[in-house]
Amino acid sequence: MNCENCGAAMKLVPGRDYFVCEYCTTFGFPAKSKDGVSVTVLGDVSDLNCPVCAVNLVPAAVAGHEVLYCTRCRGMLASNTNFGDIVASLRATYEQSDERKPRPIDPSEFKRHLRCPHCEQDFDTHPYYGPGNVVVDTCGECALIWLDHGELDVIRRAPGRR
Ligand SMILES: [Zn+2]
Ligand SMILES: [Zn+2]
Ligand SMILES: [Zn+2]
Repeated sequence: MNCENCGAAMKLVPGRDYFVCEYCTTFGFPAKSKDGVSVTVLGDVSDLNCPVCAVNLVPAAVAGHEVLYCTRCRGMLASNTNFGDIVASLRATYEQSDERKPRPIDPSEFKRHLRCPHCEQDFDTHPYYGPGNVVVDTCGECALIWLDHGELDVIRRAPGRR
């Protein structure tokens, strides 16, 4: 897969099913991405910028709950309350058919430092305490959580309690 922006060869993001360009950091998503979480974009502007790309996040809905979504890297910012509701509703409706083993945590994910777009303080980067081996970025002060593309799908599919 080549970068649509600069044409360079793209590199697979570790543990994910999408690509990133090492030259210009454009993300590339194969047409048949395995992410089964659907995001409905509701508007085209918000007060906050993406902590990864610094472009404006847009209001969107996941499982009927509001999030702020980045159309460039497809990450999302949710309040802790909405995130809990989204996880509960996605997991309640997911048929546990394919037994995908959760991937191991990639230690390099802890080295990334993102800042909360709301208060500008560093996000707290830690493993998510619920199902699925994902590393999440949270702001306790603002009660916000940042999820990279694909993380919600890993949580949705993870075996275990609902
Ligand atoms: Zn590029
Ligand atoms: Zn982004
Ligand atoms: Zn914050």
